[in-house]
Amino acid sequence: MINFTVGPVQSSDAVRAIGAEQVPYFRTAEFSELMFENERLIKKFANATEDSRVVFITGSGSAGMETAIMNTLTPKDKAIVVNGGSFGHRFVELCELHGIPFDEIKLQPGKALKAEHLAVYEGKGYTTFIVNKHETSTGVHYDMQLISDFCKRNNLFQIVDCISTFLADPFDMTALGADVMITGSQKALACPPGISVMALSPKALNRIESTKCCCQYLDLKIALKNAERGQTPWTPAVSILRQINVRLKEIDANGGVNAEIKRTAGLAEYFRKKIKGLPFEIYSESLSNAVTPLHPTTASAYDIFLKIKDEYGMWICPNGGDMKDSVFRVGHIGCLTKSDYDKLIDAFVDLKKKGLI
Ligand SMILES: *Cc1c(COP(=O)(O)O)cnc(C)c1O
Repeated sequence: MINFTVGPVQSSDAVRAIGAEQVPYFRTAEFSELMFENERLIKKFANATEDSRVVFITGSGSAGMETAIMNTLTPKDKAIVVNGGSFGHRFVELCELHGIPFDEIKLQPGKALKAEHLAVYEGKGYTTFIVNKHETSTGVHYDMQLISDFCKRNNLFQIVDCISTFLADPFDMTALGADVMITGSQKALACPPGISVMALSPKALNRIESTKCCCQYLDLKIALKNAERGQTPWTPAVSILRQINVRLKEIDANGGVNAEIKRTAGLAEYFRKKIKGLPFEIYSESLSNAVTPLHPTTASAYDIFLKIKDEYGMWICPNGGDMKDSVFRVGHIGCLTKSDYDKLIDAFVDLKKKGLI
C-alpha cells in the first residue's frame, strides 16, 4: 500500500528500524540527552526564542490541544476561535468543556480567513486567539501574518495548532509572536502516532505557572519540571520519542526545516500539475503544502477512496460527515516520492478510462 493520507503517514527506513527494536529503559542520562536534543531541534525548526520550552505529551495531537486549553486559559479569558472545519470545531468544544468564554469565527468550508472576519473583534477586550494554522479537514491554510498582526495589535495570547503544517509550511514562532505551538508525531514528523509536541513561549510559561490544571496527567507544570532534567513525569511512548529523534536529525542533516518544506512543496506542486485534465476541483481557497483537498465532479469521493484502496493498493484520505461524498484529500507529507504520485495519477486515469470518474 502507498499511503497518501494526512496521518499516520509513511516513515523513513531509519524511523521504522527503531520500531523493531526493544524498548529501552528510559530513566537514564542517555534518554535525557535524547530528549534535550529533541527539544533543541523542535525549537530550532519552529524558530522559538531561546527562553521557550518544549514538552512531549504521550497522546495524539488532540491531547496537545486539550493540554493547551487546560494549562494556559481560565474562565477570566475571552478567546476568539477560528472554526473552519472539524479541527476548529474541536477547539470550540474544548473551550465549552473547560468553561473558557469565547466567540467563534465560523468560516464556510474551504474558505480563507480574511481581514474583514477579524475586523469586528478589533479592540473588544479579547485575551486569546486560538487557531488551527492548517484546517486539515478542508485543506485551508490560514494567513498567519494576518492573524499575527491582529494579535499583536490587540495584545492577544496565541495558541496555534500546527499539527499538520509544522515542517510542511513555514512557521516562525518568534516572528509571529505565537505562544503555544502544537504538533503531532504522525503528521509531517512522519513517525507513528502517540506523541504530541508543544513549544511554549515565555508568556505561555508564565500562564502555565499561574493556572491550575485540573488534570494531573496533562499538567504542564509537572511536565516542565521533569523536562528540566530531560524526563517526563509518566512513562512516555519511549520508542516514538526515539523515532522523533532520528527523524529530526534526518531533517537537520538534509538541510534543515526549509529544505524539508521545499521538498514537500515540490511534491504538492508536482501532484497539482498532474491532476489537470481529471474531473477534480481543488476545494480550498488557500492551500497548505501538506494536502490537496479535491472535489470530484463526476463521482462520489468516498467511492473513489474505496476503489483506490481496494483495487489499486493506495490510501487517499476520505472526508467524514457532510463532505463524505464531495471531498477527498491527497497528502504530501511523509516519505513519498514523485513516482508514488505517478502511480496514483495512473490509477485516476484508469478510473476515468473505465468511466468510473
Ligand atoms: C491531525 C490533526 C489534529 C489531531 O488529531 P489526532 O488524531 O488527535 O492526532 C489536530 N488538529 C489538526 C489541524 C490536525 O491535522
